[in-house]
Amino acid sequence: MNIRRKNINLKYINTFFHITKNLMLIKWCNLDKKICYYQFLTIFNQKNKKKNKHKFCLLDYIKFSSIFKFFFMKLKKVELLTSYLDKFLPLNYNFEYVKTISRLNNSKYKKIFVQFPDGIREYNIILNSLFQLNSRRICQVLNLGITSYGACCIEDYFAKFLGTCVVLHYGHSCLTPISESFVLAIYVFLEINFNWNTIINIFEKKTFLFLRKVFTLFSTVQYISILQNAKKELDLKFKLTFVHTNKPLSPGELLGCTCVKIDNFSNVMYIGEGRFHLETIVFSNFFLHFFQFNPFFYQLLKIDYNIVETLKERKVQILKSFQKKTNLAILSGVLGKQNNNLFLKKIESLISKKSIKILRVVMCEISFDILNKINYGIIKTWIQNACPRLSTDWNNFFIEPVLNSYEACVLFCSVKWKKYTYPLTYYSYKGEYWTMYATVKSFFS
Ligand code: SF4
Repeated sequence: MNIRRKNINLKYINTFFHITKNLMLIKWCNLDKKICYYQFLTIFNQKNKKKNKHKFCLLDYIKFSSIFKFFFMKLKKVELLTSYLDKFLPLNYNFEYVKTISRLNNSKYKKIFVQFPDGIREYNIILNSLFQLNSRRICQVLNLGITSYGACCIEDYFAKFLGTCVVLHYGHSCLTPISESFVLAIYVFLEINFNWNTIINIFEKKTFLFLRKVFTLFSTVQYISILQNAKKELDLKFKLTFVHTNKPLSPGELLGCTCVKIDNFSNVMYIGEGRFHLETIVFSNFFLHFFQFNPFFYQLLKIDYNIVETLKERKVQILKSFQKKTNLAILSGVLGKQNNNLFLKKIESLISKKSIKILRVVMCEISFDILNKINYGIIKTWIQNACPRLSTDWNNFFIEPVLNSYEACVLFCSVKWKKYTYPLTYYSYKGEYWTMYATVKSFFS
C-alpha cells in the first residue's frame, strides 16, 4: 500500500516538474496558490483530453496541493525555484534582490509597495515572486499600476494610504531625504553593467578626433559606476576628462530636469541610451559638441540637436501668455513629489496682486489630451507646477501655452530670459528660486 502511494506521489512530482518546465512557472508563483492548482488542473486536463488519459479530480487536486506545499514550503526547495526564476532576469542588471530581501527580513513589515520605471516593468512578476518566496515575512506585494517616470515619482504617501510600510523604488536616485518620507523608502538604482573597456578602445582608435580636446562625462544613475571606472582609465591614458558634481546627485549624474552648466569649452560625452537625458545637457549648454556612447550598441555617435528652434518656440509661448494674461490656471501635478509648494505660494501671491483671475487645477498625471479637452477655450495660459520638461517636450501638443516654473518667473517675476542656457536645475542644491530646494528666504526676498 505504502509503495503504491509512493509511486503515485512520484508520478505527480514528475508530472508537476514536466508541466512547470513547459508552462510559465513565473505566472503561477505570482498568483494565489489556489488559482495555481486550478490552472494546473485545467491545463493538464486539456492536454490529456485527446489522449484519453487519466483526468484530475478533486482528490488529485488535494494530493497535488499537498505535494506543492511539501516541495516548496516544507522541504525549503525555494532555492530551486529562485534559481529557476533568476534565469528570467537579465544578467547585466543589478536588481539587488538578495540585499533587499535581507533588509526586508530584518524589518517587521509584511506588505510592500513596489514602483517600476517603464524599462523593467516586464520583470515585475518575477521580482514579486522572488520576494514572496524568499522573504520570511512578506506576504503581500503591491505594484503601482502606472510607470514611475523619474526620481521625483516616489509614491510614499500612496503606499501609506494602501496600508503598506515599505516603498521599493526601482531605477532612480534618491532625491528626497529618506527621513522625510511617510514610509520606509528603499531605492534600488538598478546598475547596468557592460564592458566599459570599449569606451577606452574607441578613444584609443580615434585619438586624432580627440587630440587636445577635453571631455566632460555624464550619465544616468544606472551607469554611474561605469562612468567612474572609465574616467579613471581615461585620465591615466589621456588626462582629458571632467566629471561635475551637482549635489544631491552623484558626481557625473544627471536627471531629465537637472544638469550643470559647463564653464569650459569641452566636448560632452553622455553614457546611456535614448535622447531624453542627453537633451538636458543640450538645454543647459547649447554651444558644445555632444557625443553619446550607447551601451546597448557599443557605439559612439556625434549628436546634433536643433535647440535654437525649440527655444524660439518657448519664447513665442511666453509672449502669447503675456498678451493673453487674463484667464490663467495653475496646474499642480501630484505625481510623487513633483509639486513645489513654495513656488505655488510665490506665484499665487504675485498673480493675485495683478488682479488676474486664477483657476487652480490638480491633476495626477498631466497630459496634453486631457488638458486640451478641459480647456474649452476659457483658459488662456496654464502654469504647470510639475515636471519642467512637460512644457518643453510637448510644446506643440498643447493648444494654449503651458509654462513651467522658470518660464512663469520670466513672465511674472521679472526674471530675465537667459541667453546662453535654458536653466534645468530643478533638483540641484544650487538651483534658482523657482526650483525644488530653494529656501523660503530666497523665495520671498
Ligand atoms: S521632474 Fe521630470 S525630469 Fe525631473 S526627475 Fe521628475 S520626471 Fe524626471
